[in-house]
Amino acid sequence: MRFVHDTLPQRVRFATGAAQQGLAAEVATLGAQRVMVIAGAAERELADRVTAGLPVVHRHDDVVMHVPVEVAERALVAAAAWDADVLVSVGGGSTTGLAKAVALSTGLPIVAVPTTYAGSEATAVWGLTEGSVKTTGTDVRVLPRAIVYDAALTFGLPAELSVASGFNALAHCVDSMWAPRTDPINQALAVEGVRALRAGLPLVVKDPNALEGREQVLYGAYLSAVAFASAGSGLHHRTCHVLGGMFNLPHAQTHAVVLPHVLAFNAPFAGGAERRLAAAFGSRTAVEGLAGLRDELGAPRSLRDLGMPQEGVGAVAEAVMAGALAGNPRPVTLDAITELVRNAWEGAEPR
Ligand code: NAD
Repeated sequence: MRFVHDTLPQRVRFATGAAQQGLAAEVATLGAQRVMVIAGAAERELADRVTAGLPVVHRHDDVVMHVPVEVAERALVAAAAWDADVLVSVGGGSTTGLAKAVALSTGLPIVAVPTTYAGSEATAVWGLTEGSVKTTGTDVRVLPRAIVYDAALTFGLPAELSVASGFNALAHCVDSMWAPRTDPINQALAVEGVRALRAGLPLVVKDPNALEGREQVLYGAYLSAVAFASAGSGLHHRTCHVLGGMFNLPHAQTHAVVLPHVLAFNAPFAGGAERRLAAAFGSRTAVEGLAGLRDELGAPRSLRDLGMPQEGVGAVAEAVMAGALAGNPRPVTLDAITELVRNAWEGAEPR
């Protein structure tokens, strides 16, 4: 066994109902005196609750998915104007992403309080969008110094959004099994992530206030993001990145639709990963486990339903092929990717 694995420096607090105390402790550890809170308008009340008692100098609610450059610029100006010494993000991947954009330019530390299962808080990956082109990069300066996980903060996330976001986390796990820097540590985290997400998501759908389900999914989402941060992007993320950029499709839902198709494409060529994923799903095959979970939870099935035009299929396939797909277990051809994207567009069974 030979591998090189980077572990990212970050403290993780996980305690349901204790976000306010955990956050206060992290801000105190950093010695911060001037807190800039980043939280979208919809998460304002949640953010007010968990940041109560902190030395807040500014509350910034100008949050937009995929972090347009002008939105990042406005947040940067605010951070400078208020002389912030720490960024506290309360929200999903879009909110964490905006804090990362500010940290990228300023070096300010971030304490992240996630309210979805996107997992951005556990990666050093940033993203900025200019026009319809999203650029991503990796820089340890954007990695939040600490994460404060509180499953109670996700009670308000509707079942449908919880499922899509949970599938985004499953995508991190599945892609980590064959991404360019996959290693045994990433794979162990990813497999345990699938087990936790498989166990928790049906409980959340049955009762969005079910604590056990929420905790399992949040825990699984964290593991998935740590695995992904180390393993890098594989074929699945490459495909979703292209789709998101070209058609501004909703992030988590796009992952939910595409993932079974990428898994079905790679599974016959990825024996060891396939068997481990199947075991984590508790199913005969990994594809059956994932597709079965999708059907059980009513996750989105087609890119058509998400608003992608049919005539875009060819352009997506070509753009996927234009990127590096090193290490994918199955050789990728333009015809194969075209068929994969067409199947995902139609909502066909993964094959
Ligand atoms: P999001 O942050 O846009 O949130 C989706 C919706 O959920 C929003 O309307 C938000 O207001 C709402 N919401 C959030 N928390 C809620 C709660 N607890 N209760 C009720 N509503 C709530 O979506 P997302 O899927 O979390 O993140 C997507 C973004 O994150 C994309 O831009 C994606 O590229 C990025 N992302 C980045 C990484 C990374 O490693 N850099 C990883 C995953 C996702």
